[in-house]
Amino acid sequence: MQQVDFLIAGGRLAGLTLAYSLTEISSASILVLDDENPNAASSVAAGILNPITGRRHVKTWMAAELFPVAFEFYRKLESLSNEKFFFPCPIAEIYDSIKTKNDWQARSAEPGYEKFIGKEFGNDQFGNAVNAPYGGIFLQHSAMVKTDKCIQALKKILAARKVKFENVDFRFDEFRFEKEEVVFRNVKAEMTVFCEGWKMIYNPLFNHHQMLPVKGDLLVFESRDLKLDCILMSDGFIGPLEDNKFLAGSTYNRNFTDEQPDIISRKKIEKFISKLLNVSYRVIDHRSGIRPAMQSRRPVAEIHPDVKRAAVFNGLGTKGFLLAPYFSNKMAAALVGASAHNK
Ligand SMILES: Cc1cc2nc3c(=O)[nH]c(=O)nc-3n(C[C@H](O)[C@H](O)[C@H](O)COP(=O)(O)OP(=O)(O)OC[C@H]3O[C@@H](n4cnc5c(N)ncnc54)[C@H](O)[C@@H]3O)c2cc1C
Repeated sequence: MQQVDFLIAGGRLAGLTLAYSLTEISSASILVLDDENPNAASSVAAGILNPITGRRHVKTWMAAELFPVAFEFYRKLESLSNEKFFFPCPIAEIYDSIKTKNDWQARSAEPGYEKFIGKEFGNDQFGNAVNAPYGGIFLQHSAMVKTDKCIQALKKILAARKVKFENVDFRFDEFRFEKEEVVFRNVKAEMTVFCEGWKMIYNPLFNHHQMLPVKGDLLVFESRDLKLDCILMSDGFIGPLEDNKFLAGSTYNRNFTDEQPDIISRKKIEKFISKLLNVSYRVIDHRSGIRPAMQSRRPVAEIHPDVKRAAVFNGLGTKGFLLAPYFSNKMAAALVGASAHNK
């Protein structure tokens, strides 16, 4: 039998940031189980950290607390892994009407927004390449995380900290919760934390939290005529990648039947790109994944009220890359506290 302190079931953004936070504050032994699904939300996500979102241009929940923690976290990961995947850059909100322009101007005068809303720009900001007849406004303190590279860097850092990984497709009924330990196949753990992303809907211990998963598709395209050092935002977004490549998306679909990219979503994103840009482009990749969104729109980080050796860290929804650094710290502290109490 293998013995560990924490067994983490699900090893992408939630599972890995939690493992990272645990290694920062304890010397606990950790085993992460994951099926290496190429469509996992964390590996396909756009990774945009956007301080003001939605049709009503509302400041992101807990922005003042979450942004500094996230920026520090990704900078530290880059330095520990010697990899580059974190790109602070402005977001150019493109006005689609005079009304939108007025709404943004009113918003920028409100207290608490001045840190995140920058200067307005005119209709010629991007030359002829971008259709912005009403101009727009820059958001600041925003960023883009190259998500798959970040996930790989986290794994590299954790492996150097002796965290173990197993590529398995686990079933909930393979976990046995006993008074003193949790048993999974040939592993005994003091505690199991479920970080299964949208598949939490199949976990009977935590399905009292209502999850409403949302599928999203993204396109990667190439264009030699587009030069961008910011993220364009209107009905969707276009963000710069390396070597004349760009990421565009994303769609929101609650009525999905599988995790695979679909043609209807591709057409929607192509329509959006063609409306916003005046340049020729070629689609070179189409990705999709499922966001673990909660009905409450808040993450779930808790130890089960009755089954003390089971916990959950999930519900990162549409903003996982912003939420995970802050909430994984909180969850790790709660787990280390509970573990000391159990001993
Ligand atoms: C199209 C799209 C765009 C997005 N854009 C952004 C963005 O711009 N900014 C932002 O902050 N967030 C964005 N997100 C959201 C972000 O990706 C998620 O909030 C975050 O990645 C969720 O991480 P997670 O670890 O909880 O879930 P996941 O990434 O789904 O990871 C869960 C892992 O557990 C594994 N697993 C589950 N069950 C089992 C099992 N039985 N056996 C083995 N393994 C299992 C899964 O296969 C997966 O590897 C986007 C998501 C999508 C889909």
